[in-house]
Amino acid sequence: MDKVKIGTCWLDGCSGCHMSLLDMDEAIVAVLGKADIVFGPLVDAQEWPEGVDVAVIEGAISSQDDLELAQTARARSKIVVALGDCAVTGNVPSMRNGIPTAKLIERVYVEGATADPQVPTDGVPALLKQAGPLQSAIKVDIHVPGCPPKPEGILFVLGELLEGRVPDLGSKLRFG
Ligand code: SF4
Repeated sequence: MDKVKIGTCWLDGCSGCHMSLLDMDEAIVAVLGKADIVFGPLVDAQEWPEGVDVAVIEGAISSQDDLELAQTARARSKIVVALGDCAVTGNVPSMRNGIPTAKLIERVYVEGATADPQVPTDGVPALLKQAGPLQSAIKVDIHVPGCPPKPEGILFVLGELLEGRVPDLGSKLRFG
């Protein structure tokens, strides 16, 4: 039987949700018995591949790069999982939404600089006006709240998906 193909990525997040994913400890061995991770921070792949079964996405959509990666993952994946409060609600990244983008960048890179104040432009993805949850830009099939979500909650979700079931999250997960 073919293994399930899982892709993961983090957009505007702190990587804490991916750390929680790894905190499944030895249970990840059982997951990898049934699934291949074909894209993500631990995989040497440059581009989100075609034919992914489950996309697990951490972080809010804050930049043009975030938006394009989320759209590519959506187009090339059967199921999209929003992993963690930043992906589910916007959470920490959306705290900037009350401040105009230009003012925010000026404050951080010029007014707040202690040396060589300048706004970086080379190779820096353009910020969107607002940071938003994943579902503000693409269709999301499963929301997994938590900051970060508990490893056992992530394991439950992946375990159900690997068995071909839609996970009933019920009281297993919570925000924050
Ligand atoms: S939900 Fe929490 S742990 Fe996950 S990326 Fe956001 S701030 Fe980090």
